[in-house]
Amino acid sequence: MNWTLPDGSVFAGNSAAKALLSSRLDAGAFPHAILLEGPAGSGRKTLARLLAAAAVCQAGSDRPCGVCPACRKAFSKNHPDITEIGGGGEARSFHIDVVRDLRDEVYVMPNEAPVRVFILCDVQNMTEQAQNSLLKVLEEPPAHVRFILTCEQRSQLLETVRSRVYAVPLGGVSAEEAVAVLRQRLPDRSEDELTRAATLWGGVIGQAINGLSDGSYQEILTLLPNIASAITAPTELQLLLATAPLEKQKDRVSAVLSGLLLILRDALVCRFESAGSLGTAPEASRTLARTLTRRQLLAVLRVLEDLQAARFFNMNHTLFLTLLCARLRRAAGR
Ligand SMILES: [Zn+2]
Repeated sequence: MNWTLPDGSVFAGNSAAKALLSSRLDAGAFPHAILLEGPAGSGRKTLARLLAAAAVCQAGSDRPCGVCPACRKAFSKNHPDITEIGGGGEARSFHIDVVRDLRDEVYVMPNEAPVRVFILCDVQNMTEQAQNSLLKVLEEPPAHVRFILTCEQRSQLLETVRSRVYAVPLGGVSAEEAVAVLRQRLPDRSEDELTRAATLWGGVIGQAINGLSDGSYQEILTLLPNIASAITAPTELQLLLATAPLEKQKDRVSAVLSGLLLILRDALVCRFESAGSLGTAPEASRTLARTLTRRQLLAVLRVLEDLQAARFFNMNHTLFLTLLCARLRRAAGR
């Protein structure tokens, strides 16, 4: 398998996913249905298109070669045997009628490639009926058909669908790998901004690019010192107010938690070496270092780490924010 993307860059990180896929593809055993699972911005669709190109590529090995006529058509989204459906919709927006059409379509033989590839994006948005309908074709797919599904978490799919797919999890990449891609995509940004964005968004490159481009990076940087200082404010009200903007910005919570972790780590450094370099919100880190004991700083750090892990469960968002405030205050001995 060749991981070079149409723009000449290499699909970043995700070595476990690449190993899983290479083990099958290099052995000429392209699974009938692959499920690429990962958060938005982790490269699910980019990888799905690369795999589709590999499936139709005419080269003998190291597919997709990127230069054969099939690859060129695939890379320009012009290949008659690659079909992309769904994506970008709301929950439950992927309806059964689309899957019914698909079920007729799969029996049509390929135009020019040995296989037909169907990329089904964001299948977590499929209704239950749509998933059940898809299941029928996943159970007995025509030999010339390959499916590549993308979703956020496979737990969002019916167990019967999950058991029929070759699931490949995608995730954030290392800070260095993320910064390398960000540098290429956003050459005007400073190294400092790129590194911090890569950290805030956990190495999920697409999210970091969006955050830097749509202003949310700057808004989060403004929000962080307010929240950090409110942890030690006289009453809990200040912290509730400081986190209030997040009530309508559920998708920013993870980046905010990562940012608070950076501030807390800086505060810990600051307690021991007053000249330590403080990055994200220097004043907030210094205040925390001054007002909290080492034990309290560590307790706050642990709360942030716990809640960062807990957000993956489907907890009610308002409840989550209330819990965040209460636990941060308690850890800070307030
Ligand atoms: Zn090729």
